[in-house]
Amino acid sequence: MKEFDYIINGGGCAGLSLAYELNIHSELSNKTLAIIENRDEYKRDKTWSFWRVSSHNFEDCVKKNWTNFTINIPHYTKHIECKSTPYQTIDSGLFYKKIINNLEQNKNIHFFKDIKEIKTENSFIFNSVCNVSENKESLWQHFSGIEIETKKEIFDDEIFNLMDFDCDQKDSVHFFYTLPYSKTKALIETTWISDLNDPTLKDYDNQLKDYIENNLKIKNYKINYKETGAIPLFHPKYIKKLNQIEIGTAGGMTRLSTGYTFLNIQDQSKYIRQNINKIREIELFSINKKYQFLDNIFLKVLKKNPKKMPKIFYKMFNCPSNTVINFLSNKSKILEDFSIIMKMPKWMFLKQLF
Ligand SMILES: Cc1cc2nc3c(=O)[nH]c(=O)nc-3n(C[C@H](O)[C@H](O)[C@H](O)COP(=O)(O)OP(=O)(O)OC[C@H]3O[C@@H](n4cnc5c(N)ncnc54)[C@H](O)[C@@H]3O)c2cc1C
Repeated sequence: MKEFDYIINGGGCAGLSLAYELNIHSELSNKTLAIIENRDEYKRDKTWSFWRVSSHNFEDCVKKNWTNFTINIPHYTKHIECKSTPYQTIDSGLFYKKIINNLEQNKNIHFFKDIKEIKTENSFIFNSVCNVSENKESLWQHFSGIEIETKKEIFDDEIFNLMDFDCDQKDSVHFFYTLPYSKTKALIETTWISDLNDPTLKDYDNQLKDYIENNLKIKNYKINYKETGAIPLFHPKYIKKLNQIEIGTAGGMTRLSTGYTFLNIQDQSKYIRQNINKIREIELFSINKKYQFLDNIFLKVLKKNPKKMPKIFYKMFNCPSNTVINFLSNKSKILEDFSIIMKMPKWMFLKQLF
């Protein structure tokens, strides 16, 4: 059986981002890498969006940038600008294609479908395959989105809608999210934050149809693409091993209050590449502990008071937009954290500390 210096287990967002980062910085010119991925083919399956608070390698896979967005609760709409940190959307199809084309040029990189096909004892493993088994208590951000196309020019493609809470909440937290790619094309998602125990929340197709026809007043459209997923709002457990570190969702790269993961994966890949020669000794890359602390309180409040959450999210955006974006993208300074905390209902949050 073949043996490699490095193994990346799971060639999804984190696995491929890391392989690409290592390859473009010539870290694989005299080291071998095996990528283990069990899917049959790479095709567009996700839309990764985020405020561009740090640089990344995939500007050429960005489908659209926006510098304005809205957030809605019943009867109120807030318009927010994000000129210095535009909101970007990456098409996973373009991302996979770019990376695979690049990696295929390097003879030191090999692809396998199953880790059992290679020898692993002497390799260093970057693992992105995790078992996020459902615990009845855990919260998930679960959603389904469709890209629709209309004949008439309907959408304002200069502004996206981050959260529209003007919809049935069903004792949970529910919003719609609309990314207008052009005047005739948009991705529309129905998103829930819940423990996944209520199957009626997963009636996504009807929710989307109802929202498009009755809220957006669009009757004639065709569906070009669909994605459905669930992001764990908890960090998967793993057993520490001397020759392995976890990356991506498996490595705690998800921001628990928002589900945003993509840019954290890029930061983690950079950190690993910068420290690759001392990988067994370095401290693990992690999202700053202050966010884990604050997000855990936030999620406890959310679980106990789902009905209050639309207003809480809305009020958060009373802070200057840079402050909120930095906070949600884990780049905030202490004073920014403080101004966000001041916008929260203090007693409700304080109660969750004890
Ligand atoms: C539909 C969807 C949309 C999302 N949108 C956003 C967004 O807008 N912004 C954001 O920041 N985050 C978003 N996320 C969250 C996060 O960015 C993604 O989940 C991201 O793909 C996580 O990367 P990963 O490498 O950890 O996991 P994955 O990308 O899922 O990669 C894991 C890989 O392991 C492979 N695999 C699984 N089991 C095995 C096995 N036994 N052997 C070999 N290979 C295996 C899988 O096929 C997969 O390719 C989204 C998540 C989903 C599901």
